[in-house]
Amino acid sequence: MKPTPPSPWNASRLDARRFAEASGHLQGDCAASEFTRLAVDLHPDGLVDATTSVAWQADGELRGADPTAASAVWLHLQAQATVPLTCQRCLGPVQTPLVVDRWFRFVATEAQAEAEDDDAEEDLLALEPRPDLMAVLEDELLMALPLVPMHEVCPQTLPSSAGTLPDGEEPRRENPFQALSKLRK
Ligand SMILES: [Zn+2]
Repeated sequence: MKPTPPSPWNASRLDARRFAEASGHLQGDCAASEFTRLAVDLHPDGLVDATTSVAWQADGELRGADPTAASAVWLHLQAQATVPLTCQRCLGPVQTPLVVDRWFRFVATEAQAEAEDDDAEEDLLALEPRPDLMAVLEDELLMALPLVPMHEVCPQTLPSSAGTLPDGEEPRRENPFQALSKLRK
């Protein structure tokens, strides 16, 4: 893997206004198990090859007539991952694609974001305190999880034929010497 060039952006405390003003771009690839809240839902047997990673990217954008307004600051967050969840039918790992494609509009404070959230069609985030992009991404990944993960066709065969023998095989006969010893008694 090529080393990632140093980024001027701090994803764990993103300055969303500067990021939008600069049409900033961030991207990364991290192990799904690094998302501790998401990891709770991952099937351990599905993680053996350790290739379960989340590819994500974030783009900043200034919008609107008044670029000095906080509400002109937007962020586009996208991610793709295929994670092993627990099939609710057979309890085995089922590889499940997750897709995140979400636009956020920024407002000045968390209180404002909460107050306006019900009326806004888009999702709102606060400029201050600066958001942790990975925590925002994890929230979105958790929301992208299916309610009931399930294989289309479970890999294990159901034990419906248990107790019957395959065609052409007869039940084992009693050992003739045992039968003989019974007669002698
Ligand atoms: Zn299954």
